[in-house]
Amino acid sequence: RKFLTEKFYHKVLTLPQSYFDSKLSGKIINQLNRGILTINNFINMATNFMLPNLLQIILTVGLMLFYNVYIAMFTFALFPIYYYISKYSSEVWGKEEAKKNALDDKTRGRITEVISNIKLVKGFTTEKSEFDFAQKNLTKLNKIYAKQSRTFHIYDSFRNLSLQVIIAIINVIAFYNAYIGKLTIGEMVLIIQLINMARAPLFAMSFILERIQEAEQGSKEFFEIIDLPSTELFDDDYVCETIKNPKIEFKNVSFSYENSETILKNLSFELDPNESVALVGHSGAGKSTIVNMILKLYEATKGEVFINDQSYKDVPHQFVRHQIALVFQENELFSSTIRENVAYGKPDSTDEQIIDALKKANAWSFVSKLKDGINAEIGERGVRLSGGQKQRIQIARAIIKDAPILILDEATSSLDAKSEMEVQEALEKLTKNRLTIIIAHRFSTIQNVNKIIVIDNGVIVDSGTPQELAGRKGLYSDLLKY
Ligand code: ADP
Repeated sequence: RKFLTEKFYHKVLTLPQSYFDSKLSGKIINQLNRGILTINNFINMATNFMLPNLLQIILTVGLMLFYNVYIAMFTFALFPIYYYISKYSSEVWGKEEAKKNALDDKTRGRITEVISNIKLVKGFTTEKSEFDFAQKNLTKLNKIYAKQSRTFHIYDSFRNLSLQVIIAIINVIAFYNAYIGKLTIGEMVLIIQLINMARAPLFAMSFILERIQEAEQGSKEFFEIIDLPSTELFDDDYVCETIKNPKIEFKNVSFSYENSETILKNLSFELDPNESVALVGHSGAGKSTIVNMILKLYEATKGEVFINDQSYKDVPHQFVRHQIALVFQENELFSSTIRENVAYGKPDSTDEQIIDALKKANAWSFVSKLKDGINAEIGERGVRLSGGQKQRIQIARAIIKDAPILILDEATSSLDAKSEMEVQEALEKLTKNRLTIIIAHRFSTIQNVNKIIVIDNGVIVDSGTPQELAGRKGLYSDLLKY
């Protein structure tokens, strides 16, 4: 169990971002659990059942062979007949099982999603429709289950019928042989006993076949995931050097997501050391996609990205991400303590370093007031903190990581004036002497950047300093009006 879980978790962590774009997390967990359960059942069954039953079959048939060839042949014939009926029935059962598993994944995936978005569900009072959705699927699951059970019983009666008929034939042969004196009464009784003994391995055989089907269906997705190619290996002893004065260059980069149209179209630009650059544009223009490319979460479809003149194709993802600290929009925190969240990029940080980072991030003022200080638990995704507080914890986390590139995905919702000022002040300290890339949603915050790149529909439509752009007619001055 430990081995299987580790193997699975390790694999999941090495999968490309594109895998997670299309999968529900609850579904992945459900597939893990089912895979492990069915593989485990199978292994238990195999060790407990298979060997003793095999021995019993050999022994029974061997003994009968000794007394009477015909009886042995008939007894032996029971096995293939029983085998084929069981195999066919468990295949029919397996098809239904696959349907059941798919539906189960969908339902549990949704339940996990609902629980993690509980505020949204409550806010839109969709509890009833969510519950109905799950209930409908669970009823469907039960129906499939009932169908499986029905088919099982139908085939089972076939099996039993063939069993009874053959046993009856064998009994007749045994009686007949005893009657004509070929077998003694004692031998006849022994043979009848032996036939009865053959029933147990027969039943075991059908049981084994069913468990095989169950394991095959139940662990299908588990093995599919295990077989996916790992693109982001993480446990080779690769030591990343931190580069000084990083420079990022896009050369004729085009990109599309799986099954999407072309999102970035032949983009070329350069981000120089220590510059702060803002990416602006309508929502859906491709700003986050550019950041995803900078993070090497996806590979360019055409063209290349360079970091200090090294192509992204030639450097591992760890190297790129080692150079980057991220401050996301809002909720990207773990449910543990403030200490663990701040030290996330550098787990061996001392208390002094953590407190120092919190101070620089303007967060110490509220953290120091908490009962447990930096050991205070912040609840899942930081529910016990306000928006501005969460952002400042993230800023402290970026300060501790002290990477030469900073990516800032600015919050779309503005904070109240005081928190906003505190966050801005903290950010200014953080962006000094770093290449900073800001996905800007508000224009008040980017008046001091060195360069603005205006993106529209996956192409750069303009770039320049805020002053230059504000003075020209174009998308930027249009955006400014709102
Ligand atoms: P912005 O950050 O400028 O608002 P994005 O870069 O997030 O824009 O999105 C650009 C386009 O890419 C949008 O049309 C969006 O629908 C599409 N897109 C974003 N992420 C994915 C994804 N994982 N798979 C497919 N399409 C995506």
